[in-house]
Amino acid sequence: MNKVTRSLRLDGQRKEFRAALLAWFAQFQRDLPWRRSRDPYRIWISEIMLQQTRVAAVIPYYEKFLERFPSVQALAAALEHEVLRSWSGLGYYSRARNLQQAAKLIMAKHGGEFPRTRAEVLELAGIGEYTAAAILSIAFGETLAVLDGNVARVLARLDGLRGDLHGPGRWRDLQNRADELLDSDAAGDWNQAMMELGATLCTPRAPQCLLCPVQQFCEARRLGLADKIPEKRKKRADVMIQLAAAVLVDNKGQSLLLAPPARSIGKKTDDHVPSLVAKLWHFPTVSTTGNAEAALRQFLVQEFALQSSSSLAFDALKTVRHTVTYRKIEVAPFLIRMKALPRISRAKTMVLDRILAEPISNLTRKVARAAIEQLGSEKIDWRG
Ligand code: SF4
Repeated sequence: MNKVTRSLRLDGQRKEFRAALLAWFAQFQRDLPWRRSRDPYRIWISEIMLQQTRVAAVIPYYEKFLERFPSVQALAAALEHEVLRSWSGLGYYSRARNLQQAAKLIMAKHGGEFPRTRAEVLELAGIGEYTAAAILSIAFGETLAVLDGNVARVLARLDGLRGDLHGPGRWRDLQNRADELLDSDAAGDWNQAMMELGATLCTPRAPQCLLCPVQQFCEARRLGLADKIPEKRKKRADVMIQLAAAVLVDNKGQSLLLAPPARSIGKKTDDHVPSLVAKLWHFPTVSTTGNAEAALRQFLVQEFALQSSSSLAFDALKTVRHTVTYRKIEVAPFLIRMKALPRISRAKTMVLDRILAEPISNLTRKVARAAIEQLGSEKIDWRG
């Protein structure tokens, strides 16, 4: 790591730096629901929801989730389906599954009390170094410094660091720097203040240095490089994925969804389908490189042990496009009308409209909408 700014090496100035940041945080912090509590359960839920999700989007989910599951006990005792339903729309459902798995461990191993040591907290599903430090410092004042993207950017700018922050050894250096600067008398507030500065003023683009409470300590500002640090990471090349999905509908308007595979014995039917679609209830879906209809026909014959698919009429629906980070997904959905839906153990049926309220991926939701739109335009009388 290149040379750190001299001002923050001096203990006296470090004190001034901490005082300035904490005073700013006390006065200007946003009023967020999870900041009104030191309850580790509430802080934990907020930290998990805030992973990959914006604050404004999290707030209504956070409040509803806590109404439904007000304690570790309630979360541990709930049916997984209910937990996923409360999570529906937030995406990245593994976060909800991990939360419940961790709640069960807290009940079994810690008598329902949130553990207090870093090692114990790191044993909980879905909790890594950042989340452990955030919960333990905010709830219990443990002297653990958080390091996430916001904090890393603030540190890099304060020290005028050049290059890719994700290069070898750099994250560890940043963690050491975060540990050095941590105010051990107010670890929770300190961590939140660093994150708040990164989220509100020291933003990725156009940092508002004139309003910054620690501008006099900032090397990037002194050098006029605030908006050039950190340097942009090289973008991962996009991967294109083609899928075909079957919306099977009977004459009562019922459609069929397949269950997520059992986790321990996950039946891997396809390279992309399990990770993108099949972790939740989903339409029969297969990846395809060529003829989507032919691939789907073959899949349905295998999946439902049909003699042949030649009697099935495939109506092509509007192509569905969806992006998950670097993966650009294109789904060719087909509406397939059947007198009776196939009966297999790992499937459930329900009216198409109702599927939208189920805990399904956004991709499955888009496929359902394409089918509903098509059926609506046909004005089908399901009473047939
Ligand atoms: Fe960030 Fe600007 Fe403050 Fe430096 S002066 S910490 S670049 S907002």
